[in-house]
Amino acid sequence: MTDDTHTDTLRTPIVAVLGHVDHGKTSLLDEIRGSAVSEGEAGAITQHIGATDIPLSTISTMAGELVNPDDFDLPGLLFIDTPGHHSFSTLRARGGALADIAVLVVDVNDGFQPQTEEAIDILRRTGTPFVVAANKVDTTPGWNPQEGEPIQKSLEAQSERAESMLNEKLYEIIGQLSDAGFSADLYWRVQDFQKNIGVVPVSALTAEGIPDLLAVLMGLSQRFMKEEMAIDVFGPGEGTVLEVKDERGFGATIDTVVYDGVVRNGDTIVVGGQNQPIVTEVRALLQPRPLEEIRTEKKFEKVAEVGAAAGVKIAAPDLDDAMAGAPVRVVRDRPLEDVIEEVKAELAEIEVDTAEDGVVIKADTLGSLEAMANALREAEVPILRAEVGDIAPRDIAVAETANQDEHKAILGFNVDLLTNAERELESADVKLFTNDVIYQLIEDYETYVEERQRAQQETVLDKVVRPARFRLLPDHTFRQNDPAVVGVEVISGTLQNNRNVGYFEGNEFERVGGLSGIQKQGDDVDEARAGERVSIAIDGPTVGRDIEEGDTLWTELPEKHAKILEQELKEEITADEREALAGYLETRRKRDPFWGK
Ligand code: GDP
Repeated sequence: MTDDTHTDTLRTPIVAVLGHVDHGKTSLLDEIRGSAVSEGEAGAITQHIGATDIPLSTISTMAGELVNPDDFDLPGLLFIDTPGHHSFSTLRARGGALADIAVLVVDVNDGFQPQTEEAIDILRRTGTPFVVAANKVDTTPGWNPQEGEPIQKSLEAQSERAESMLNEKLYEIIGQLSDAGFSADLYWRVQDFQKNIGVVPVSALTAEGIPDLLAVLMGLSQRFMKEEMAIDVFGPGEGTVLEVKDERGFGATIDTVVYDGVVRNGDTIVVGGQNQPIVTEVRALLQPRPLEEIRTEKKFEKVAEVGAAAGVKIAAPDLDDAMAGAPVRVVRDRPLEDVIEEVKAELAEIEVDTAEDGVVIKADTLGSLEAMANALREAEVPILRAEVGDIAPRDIAVAETANQDEHKAILGFNVDLLTNAERELESADVKLFTNDVIYQLIEDYETYVEERQRAQQETVLDKVVRPARFRLLPDHTFRQNDPAVVGVEVISGTLQNNRNVGYFEGNEFERVGGLSGIQKQGDDVDEARAGERVSIAIDGPTVGRDIEEGDTLWTELPEKHAKILEQELKEEITADEREALAGYLETRRKRDPFWGK
């Protein structure tokens, strides 16, 4: 007996495309879609919201002899349309990656780049199987393009020279994969795809190698993911929010990838929100209208239900606070509380630890927010507030409340600065950093902090009184008083003009007057270094009465300056300044052990 409450079937594997900017992710997706359409199978590929479904029959037509449909029982491949790892890291399902399999696009001319490394890290962390599309093979000098052909066939048409040039680049990529800890080879040499990463040479421009890429993706899914693809088609739908979008006539809607079960119009759903899970009821399930009908006013058509795997726009009340990357769960036949707890638990997994003081971080999705928080933790940068969404005036207000000035900063990953926030930022004492590469963003912030600290130390160093010990030279009294002008030698430290000077009487410091000039070989200078002989003018003392030739004098250090010098600037001052400081402190502390502490 069949019942309509429980039926297992195999769903379409979800494929994500990742890689460094400009390596051809978008072109590759477009080419795959375009080739599918031009195979005369336009009716067979379905455009979903945020994803494209390419059925097995189309793949097999495109891939020719590489894919025999009889070898497969998975229905095809669902490509996520937004390439890049921002969306990839968003795409979580029950704590793992939502994409079942990934294509890592690497430009054969460029090899590994920062975002390639970042993508590899994410793939490793999420344990997502992937293939490498070594793209732009058509740019090899002397290449003889073979539109849409499998790569082996295309290689046969190349000169020996072109082929060997390409091989060289391919092996470089294989080497880089190995440096990243993945053993890899050209895909036709790979025996065990669980142990080795297959590299598929392709061109998104000429579609060479695309049959191979599809064949490898299909084969990998069939071999290693068949079990995971078994789902209950009538089970309560589960999905992940790709994007929250305002849609005329519908208000806030969520573009969702459904990876399990079925979502029906009218279902009660629980969605992860900014503050708490949102419980709401599906008002409409929207799919794009087929291309030929696009002229009609309405962009979308309503459907009664969508089963996994699919991309769909869900319209429902109260979705304004929904977050990209958050889970979506259909309640159906289960206690609502259980489902809410499930959603909460999943959100808690992604929750970012915040501190009393720190920076404000904003990201486009929960997944990227989490990735950013992890990277900041490693960099030991505390986080005051972490949120999904564009940078709003409120964020600037929050950032301003940070205690330490260097924490008055907002780090935005893949988000925009809202127009009204722009004005706010101009008048606020808050520094904004935005980037779409996480490590770059953090590096920029760290550089800023370092420069700031250095600049601060420099100003302090500029203002602080430098220690100096100097000796009055015999037979070098040029003037007795008003001011006394004498020749001196700096023993250690830096003797600066306009400082008070004096000597130690026992352990007591006796000020004798203030320096009002330093001359070095007849020229006025601001300071004299250890070892230098200069003549100085001292306001106050009379030589022969208050001071004598041969006396050792010191620059008087205000207690606060002595403390800063000892505790904060020890590394910044010179060795002989440290020596002068140590001598000065030692004597001072004989009388008061806590002086300058
Ligand atoms: P994305 O940033 O990774 O999505 O890269 P795009 O798809 O936008 O491609 C970046 C640039 O590389 C564009 O100018 C493309 O036309 C070009 N491009 C992409 N794939 C190929 C290819 O296979 N061959 C050649 N010659 N150019 C390509």
